[in-house]
Parts: sequence; C-alpha cells; structure tokens
Amino acid sequence: MKILVINSGSSSIKYKLFVLPGEQNMAKGIIEHIGEKGSKIKDHYTGLKIVLGRVKQVDLVGHRVVHGAEKFKRPTLINAPVIRKIRQCCTLAPLHNPANLAGILACKKLLPGVRQVAVFDTAFHQTLPDYAYIYGLPYEFYKRFGIRKYGFHGTSHQYVAHEAARRLNKPMSKLKIITCHLGNGCSITAVDRGRSIDTSMGFTPLEGLIMGTRCGDIDPALVTYIMHKKRLNIFQLDNILNKASGLKGISGISNDMRILGRKARSGDKRAKLAIDIFIYRIKKYIGAYAAIMAGCDALVFTGGIGENQRRIREEICKGIFSHLKKKPKILVIPTDEELMIARQAYQLIK
Ligand code: ADP
Repeated sequence: MKILVINSGSSSIKYKLFVLPGEQNMAKGIIEHIGEKGSKIKDHYTGLKIVLGRVKQVDLVGHRVVHGAEKFKRPTLINAPVIRKIRQCCTLAPLHNPANLAGILACKKLLPGVRQVAVFDTAFHQTLPDYAYIYGLPYEFYKRFGIRKYGFHGTSHQYVAHEAARRLNKPMSKLKIITCHLGNGCSITAVDRGRSIDTSMGFTPLEGLIMGTRCGDIDPALVTYIMHKKRLNIFQLDNILNKASGLKGISGISNDMRILGRKARSGDKRAKLAIDIFIYRIKKYIGAYAAIMAGCDALVFTGGIGENQRRIREEICKGIFSHLKKKPKILVIPTDEELMIARQAYQLIK
C-alpha cells in the first residue's frame, strides 16, 4: 500500500511516500514559499497538486497535525466531524493547526475517495496522569480554557522509544526509557512501559529545555516584570521568549549548536555559557524523569543535536547515572516522524 505522508506548514508542504508493510521510502520532497509574495504557488491546493504530480498513485494519506488537545488520543480517520474538531483545536495552535487543516482540505479535493488519517503531535502524551499535566493555577482555567500540559514532538518520542525497544530486543512493557529530542526545538519524555508519563514541553512548545531560540522554563513572574521594565506589549514579549531567547539569546551569537561549539572552543565565554546551561537543564530533567520512573533502562538521543553532537551527549551523560547500580543503555536513534505517521495510518486502516 502506497502511503503519502504530508507535513503541511504555513508556507510549506513536506512529503514522503512509503510503501507498507515493507516501509520502503519511494519519494520525498518539499514545496516552499506557499502563499508568499511573488510565489507562483498561491495556496496549499496548488502546492499539493505539484506533490501529486510527483508521487502518482496514492492509496492512503497520513497527515501530521500538531495539536489534538484532549479530543484526539490516537491516530484518527478523517471525516467531517474530525475536521470540525481539528478546527476547534486551532485556538491552541494558531500557527500550526490551520496550516495542517489546509493540507487536509486540499487532499480531500484532489484525492476524492482516498482515505486520510490524522496523526497528532500531542496524542502520545495523552497518557500523562493528571498530577503531571495540571498546572498550579486555578483549576477552572483547565476546565474552561483547556489550560494544561499537552506536550509536543509526540510522534518522534514514540518512534525512538519503539526503536530503542527493538534494538534492545525487549518488549516496551518491560522498559523505562527517557527520550531526548534535541533539535531547534527540544523536549524530553519519560516513557514508562510504552506510555508517556511526563514531558518537558507544556501548554505550548515554549516550556522545558533551553532551545535554539526559546527560553524554556523561567520564573513566570518574569513575564510581567520584563513587560513593565522594557515597556513591551504581549506580542513583543512573546517574540522575545520564542525567537530571541535560548541558545541565541544567551550567546548573542546564534541558535545553531555547530556555530556555538566552534565559538566556545575558540574561547567565547557566552557561547560556552549557553552550551553549559543547555546541558545542565537536560541533566536536571533526566534526573527528574529517572526519579519518577524509579529507574531508567535506556536514554535515547535524537534530533539534529541529539544525533550528531557527540560532545554534547557525552557532557549530558557525564556522571549522571553514577548512583544507579544498573546503568541505562545510551542510544542514538535518528528520528523518522514521517515513517511513524505512515505506520500508524497503515495500522489504523488494517
Ligand atoms: P529542527 O528542530 O528545526 O528540525 P534539527 O533537528 O536539524 O532542527 O536541529 C538543529 C540543531 O541541530 C542545530 O543546533 C544544529 O547545529 C544541530 N545539527 C543539525 N545537524 C547537525 C550535524 N550534522 N552536525 C552537528 N550538529 C547538527
């Protein structure tokens, strides 16, 4: 069965074509500059037409959808009520879900009769217990506005956790795994016998680790303090926390770990500080997640930094499990969210 996986962003469509059950990747690519000034590709419909011209026969489509809130706990066959519910989730992911929906609607028009499956970034984390996802805020905020930890990168964490179990040749039901997705966005998840029980990103992807340009955990009182001090409105502050903080903000140089590594080695103190903070925060989360699972059998690294930066991995792991009798296995596993989406779409249809 030929499965087209679509990751539709605000101005791009990334795609991969797989044949399952063999899992061969037959094609992949990206259509960019959708809807941008001067671009020939005026909308997702036009972009997807180009994709379909390249991939020919498609039996099933798997869509990445960023936010499924509490409405979607697993991959779901797309129909009119499902589209309505995905639309309702747009308030929680205003930059992402509308773009994901545009891809779904374009596919519906261009591939009538071909089944489509939505796979949600948040779904894997829907197994978090309430004491992990409720914030220390008035409880009615959760009930009225859906304010809680959702977590992201779920498809990636799920993929590498499964791959870790396969490599260790053990059933998921017997493993406590900590997965670190370290790219531009970074998150870490405690996977207890196959279930995500805590994850570092929260209501939005801003919480948790230090990231390329995002600040991760900070004292929430800083939000109003900085707005007051610098006379900022909420949009300006949001921009600082998401785009001018993290590795870039601390170093004043770049969000790219390769550049920071080179700068730090040539003596730049703030580049080194940014890297030290990045590593320190990850160590704290690993310690916390090993504690809540009462152990850890495997620590998995993935994402651009996790897969390629050996020195960073070594610094993170240094001394971290010295108190444990049984040391966890350290694994580096390239993530493949598209393959995971194809697998899940295939399993649902089968
Ligand atoms: P995104 O989260 O946007 O998908 P990536 O997963 O590629 O991004 O992660 C980007 C980070 O990974 C950057 O800090 C970059 O320095 C680092 N990175 C990516 N590829 C490599 C590589 N081949 N060698 C070293 N570092 C890399």
